[in-house]
Amino acid sequence: MMSTPSLRSVRDLDVAGKRVLVRLDLNVPLRDGAIADDTRIRAALPTLLHLRERGARLVVCSHLGRPKGRRNDAYSLLPVAERLSELMDADVVFAHTTCGTEVTDLVKEQDDDVVVVTENLRFQIDEVNNEVDFGRDLASLAEVFVNDAFGVLHRSHASVVGVTKYLPSAAGLLVEEELKALAPFRAEPGATNAPAAAIVGGAKVSDKIAVLSALSQGVDELFIGGAMAYTFLQAQGQPVGASRVEADWVASASELLASCAARDVRVHLPVDHVVATRFAEDAEASVVDTIEEGQMGLDIGPKTVSAWSERLAGCKSVFWNGPMGVFEWEAFSAGTRGIAKALAGSSAYTVVGGGDSAAAIATFGHADDVSHVCTGGGAALSYIETGDLPGLVPLMESA
Ligand code: AMP
Repeated sequence: MMSTPSLRSVRDLDVAGKRVLVRLDLNVPLRDGAIADDTRIRAALPTLLHLRERGARLVVCSHLGRPKGRRNDAYSLLPVAERLSELMDADVVFAHTTCGTEVTDLVKEQDDDVVVVTENLRFQIDEVNNEVDFGRDLASLAEVFVNDAFGVLHRSHASVVGVTKYLPSAAGLLVEEELKALAPFRAEPGATNAPAAAIVGGAKVSDKIAVLSALSQGVDELFIGGAMAYTFLQAQGQPVGASRVEADWVASASELLASCAARDVRVHLPVDHVVATRFAEDAEASVVDTIEEGQMGLDIGPKTVSAWSERLAGCKSVFWNGPMGVFEWEAFSAGTRGIAKALAGSSAYTVVGGGDSAAAIATFGHADDVSHVCTGGGAALSYIETGDLPGLVPLMESA
């Protein structure tokens, strides 16, 4: 396993008087042009403050949304730069382009205590294509590179991978913290964090089978909810009615169940369900133990929530990714809410693996009651799955 200790850290850099390009994940949700949630900006502060205290001159870059390689003012980082200025209590100068003369001139004239924030990296298609020239242009803005954008470490983009060819590069404090939080779930079963549990939900087995399989190597208990559960229930020969089942993945689900059984990893599937006869927000919801023809499971039921909560209470570390049901609709949100509550009330080391589950734990008011909420779901799952990420490779001591 590739582990945190051999990662070059921002703490080991001598940055006094140097210009440092900091890649952040400032991809915040916007509503009507305003920042709806600034968690990701706040998560970036420790590294920025660390560098500033050590005399670095900061040039910050990030992506925002998916503007598909074209300038689109709806995805401008300007409001993010303004919020960053407030949170850092620093003067921020915003560059209206990602690189080129406007930015090079700005950084040349940059006062020591001024932070330069450049425009959305994804306004350039060269960013996602990892074009060599774009990586070099980004690198020309600084003498040192720090990557603290955990949420994009699974992407081979120019600002994640390309730029590191030209500058001494290290990981930021958030990246270190995220990797540390995920490490227990990649450990061997029976390690000091045992009993460890993972709760995985969401839409598709096909998206998560690899991560389920990886988690099953590290945890003692695996709880499977969401639409995915019905493919597993079908694999066990249980009735699933009109629930969402991925027919092509039933065999893989069977294999995973068999392999877990052979290794004494306990797999928990829902024992009751909130069902409806149509997939609609206003569909009438009822709770059943056995799903009948024409019914579709849209959430785990109350018996499941209480059995799982009880079981989770005995665990020392818990990882959660993916909603237990169609949590966007009130009638089918109780399962996800119940699991969020169980995590919040647990004395275990609790990690929420980004994406929908991070949104859910925040919506239900429990984000501060868990040990760690990952800022990047895709990166977190990819790290658990492979123990490595493309953006980490160039930050290793050996690179
Ligand atoms: P994912 O992106 O894989 O984490 O999936 C999240 C989506 O799965 C959410 O939009 C949920 O509404 C959806 N989902 C969860 N449970 C179910 C279910 N039982 N049936 C259909 N969709 C579901």
